[in-house]
Order: sequence, then structure tokens, then C-alpha cells
Amino acid sequence: MQIRHGIPVSPGVAITRAVVLDAVDQPIPRRLVPAEKIVEQRERLTAALNASAKDVEDLTARTAAEIGPEMAKIFDFHLAMLRDPQLVGQFEQMIDRERVTAEYAVYSAMRGLAAQFLAFENPYFHDRVKDVWDLERRILRNLLGGEGPDLSQIRHEAALIAHDLTPSQTASLDKTLIKGLATDAGGRTSHTAILAHALGIPAIVGLEDITAHISSGDTVIIDGNRGQVIINPDAAQLLEYRQYIEQIVKFETSLGKVARQPAITTDGTEVTLLANIEFPSEIAPAIEKGAVGVGLYRTEFLFLASEIEPAEQQQLDAYLQAIEAAAGRPLTIRTLDLGADKIHHHSVNFHAENNPFLGCRSIRLCLQNLSLFKTQLRAILRASAHGPIRIMFPLISNLMELRQAKMILSDVMEDLDEQGVPHATDIPVGVMIEVPSAALQAGKISREVDFVSIGTNDLIQYTLAVDRSNERIASLYTGAHPAVIQLIRDVIRAGHRAGIDVSLCGEMAGEPEFVMLLLGLGLRTFSITPPAIPEVKKIIRSVSIKQCQRVARRSLEFDSHREVHNFLREEVRRVVPDVFDGRRIAQ
Ligand code: PEP
Ligand code: MG
Repeated sequence: MQIRHGIPVSPGVAITRAVVLDAVDQPIPRRLVPAEKIVEQRERLTAALNASAKDVEDLTARTAAEIGPEMAKIFDFHLAMLRDPQLVGQFEQMIDRERVTAEYAVYSAMRGLAAQFLAFENPYFHDRVKDVWDLERRILRNLLGGEGPDLSQIRHEAALIAHDLTPSQTASLDKTLIKGLATDAGGRTSHTAILAHALGIPAIVGLEDITAHISSGDTVIIDGNRGQVIINPDAAQLLEYRQYIEQIVKFETSLGKVARQPAITTDGTEVTLLANIEFPSEIAPAIEKGAVGVGLYRTEFLFLASEIEPAEQQQLDAYLQAIEAAAGRPLTIRTLDLGADKIHHHSVNFHAENNPFLGCRSIRLCLQNLSLFKTQLRAILRASAHGPIRIMFPLISNLMELRQAKMILSDVMEDLDEQGVPHATDIPVGVMIEVPSAALQAGKISREVDFVSIGTNDLIQYTLAVDRSNERIASLYTGAHPAVIQLIRDVIRAGHRAGIDVSLCGEMAGEPEFVMLLLGLGLRTFSITPPAIPEVKKIIRSVSIKQCQRVARRSLEFDSHREVHNFLREEVRRVVPDVFDGRRIAQ
């Protein structure tokens, strides 16, 4: 039995068998296999070596035909290594004698070979090191299936254990099979974390080396409330957790009633609770949970989930599906927020960047790829003829960007008019305030838009200079930092002064400890990941605005985020103790 701690990003508890998926570009941990599985490992190795030899032969033939036979000779060395009885024997012996996985045997022996080559004085061997690494990757790809973890390997209910997952891999997880998720990498608001929460899969990220401590088939408890993974729990722990799960189910059932009640404070102030979604199919369940509309539709996930760039019609179909599901409720469609961690390596727009979060992402990418941007705007506008929608531009960092985006929207409207294609003409246009420069200019921005939505996931990372997806600095990433609170306060004030609607759609809006603070700062529209809606509504229904204003005032007096956090937790616990009993607050 072993307990490892990480960052809880999606609540709930799962007790199940682990499936550990390695990735080619990550160190392969030394994992042991039971004696009866040795034959299977040997067979996997043979198949991967044969497949690799075939790959290299094909590559040799192609290179010879396209570039010339001289060039094709560079692969002779790869083939020689694959057929070298000493090297292959080393892989086999490691599996037989040390009882390790085939991937670890290959990884370890190839690293040993590279080290030997580097130790020789002859530069010929130094040049060959790259070939050794190249071949290692090829064999591992054939063993593991692709560059990242191969999710198609999972055929039974399991907790998925991996170094990291991309947002598109997470979006494709089959909820009926994946009961829990634990990763080495990741931060509180990485998109992988956000998606796991949206899918309702208990998840813990930032566990650093969890893949080295779990083997496929181990029993694990993924405790997404407390942020702990228990590996091979004993009988007493299993019993304790089964009782805990019963308690959670009871709590969830009690929250179910709240979903149908209005979000209104004890002194009669109405609060609007909207949902954050990635796919139109999430709208109906969000309404079930108590959402009265969609405050953030992350349209880039249609792109991340497709092999090729979705055409206008495909985008239109998705938006029409969303309009139908929203059935007249507000539907805020955010234009593409691609880039940074939401990248599609197959895309023509993909360029490796040194600082992707500060790079050509989001509205910047759209403004530099007008045909991509205009195609999406056409699809949104065409959909607007069928139901109410609002358009929201992400990552605005200056007024010029906003004006340019609005001008392009007008151009697309004119084109549609000329072609006689119907669309709404009074579509509310808003922006996300998620860059400190936009927060500081919120007054001016608010005079040029119909609404703003505060994106704290990015606002926190840019204000505090803390990468939202980096587990090594996750303790510095917090919405409780006084500087972040001040910015939020100022944006809400600026928006209200301009008479426009201000919402907050970062994860912070769904975190129980921040609800009283945000209400006290004047926020009246929350856009939240659907599973968190009932909990937030329960808090809203238990507090008065006066009480929240006092909480906000006190929060602004503290010097450090620690003090703010502790204070906020205490306050909310006082008002609604059962919300936090053994849940996220217990971390
Ligand atoms: C945000 O940045 O707060 C936000 C809601 O957008 P995303 O998480 O998609 O960057
Ligand atoms: Mg953002």
C-alpha cells in the first residue's frame, strides 16, 4: 500500500484497476511483470522489432527512390542494430531475468548503448548516438502505439495513469470505461484538468512520478476530493472508502434538489448561473444541473477532435445543435481559442514556439489566419438565424485587436447580406478579460462591447507569471492572490459602470471557496463547469450579499494568498459546512 499526493482537479472517488500508459517521449519507468506475463512481454518485443524492421525497410526503399541509393544507406545502421543478436539478446535477457516490461528493456538497453557510444573517442560513434535514439523511439512507438498514450488499449473499466494527456485525448475519453485519471504532469487549470472535470471523471494531476509507482492491474483509489492516489489499498482502507463513497452519493443526491431551485441569495438577489461547455452534447446535462444558459462554448474543441480542419458546414452543424439544445437560453459562442496547450499538431497553423502561452494563440492566431477566422464567423452568423447567440472574442490584449475583430465580423455580415444569406443583425458581442492589460483597460473596452467575461484561468497565469499547466509551480497558481482579486474587482466595477453584463468563466467561478468573495465583489453572473453548478448554487442560496461584501472587504486587506485562502475557506465552511465535508476543502 502506498499513498501519493497531487493536485485534485475533478472531485469524486474511484476504486478500480489501473491501466498505465507510457509515452514514447517520456522516460519509461522500471516496472516488473508477474512470471506468467513474461511470455507475453517476449511476444510484444518480437512483434515490435519485426514492425520496426519493416518500417526501416520501407523507409530505405522510399529514400532510395526519392533521393538516391547513397542516402538510403544511412538506414543500414538501423537495420544492423535491429538484427544484432547481441542487442536483441540483451532485450530478451532483461525481460527473462529481471522480469521487466518489454518497453523498459528496450529503453534501458538502448540508453546503455548510447552511453557506450558516447564514451568512445572515435567521433564516428558520437555521430551514431542520434541513430540509437531514433531507433529507440521507433521500437517504443511500435510497442506503445503512437507518440502519446494509446487510449484504444483500454477495453475494460479502469483508472487511467499516464505522464500527461493532451486536451484532445482527454476529450475523447470514454466515460463508461475511464473511472479515474491520474497524471504526472499538469496544473489546476490545464485544459486536460478542465475537461476531466467537465466529464465528471475524478482526476488528480501533478503527481510528478505516479507512472513509476503503479503497474497496470494494480488496484487504485483515485480520491479526486483530497488529491490522493492510494496504490494497492488494504482491506481497512477499501472499507473506509466504500463508506466514503456512500456519503458522497448521499451528498450528491441532496444537491440534486438544489438544481431545480433558483440561484437567489438569502436577501433576494438573483444570480445567473451559466455553463462552460466544450461540445454541444454537454448543454442538456448542464441544464439538468441547473444552468440557465451557456456562458462559454469553447469552440476550438471541434477542431481538436477532428483530424482535419472542420469545414464551415461542419461548424454550422455544431452551432445549430447547440442552439437546439439551449432552446432559447443564452448561448455564448467563443471564437477559436487555439494555440498554447490547445494545439493540433496536424494543423497547418501549428508552429513550435518558445513561449506558446505568450505566442500566436487565440484571437492573435485568428487575426493572422483570416480565412480560418472568417469561416468560423460565417458559420456562427448563419447559425444566428436559428436562435439567440452571443459572440465572444478571447485573449483580447488591446483595443486595436477588439476593433479589428469587430471589423472582420462586420465584413462577414456584409458578405452574407450580399449573398442573401440570413443572419441575426443584433448579436451581442463581448470579450474575455483574461490578460492583465485588458483588465487594466476594462473601462475603455467595456464601452465598445455588449458584455465581458473574466477568464481567470489565464488572468491568473499572466498576472502572476505562473504557467497554468506546470505542476512544479502549481502552489503559486491561485486566484486568492490579492493582485488577482483587485483586478477582478476593477473589471466588475468598470463593466457595471459602463452598464454591461459582467460574468466570470474561469474555473474559479466553480470553486466553492471563491463564491462569497465573487458575490461580494459584485459578480452576478457565474459561468461554471456543469458538475460544479449545484454546489455553487447551494452556497449562493445560503448567504446574503451583505455578508459577502464583508468577506470581500476583509479579503482585500490581507497581504498574502495563504491568508486569503484560509479566510475564505473558514467563511464558507461557517455558512455551508456540509458542502465541504470531506470534499475539495480537505486537500
Ligand atoms: C480562462 O482563461 O479563464 C477561460 C475560461 O478560458 P480557457 O480556460 O479556455 O483558456
Ligand atoms: Mg483563457
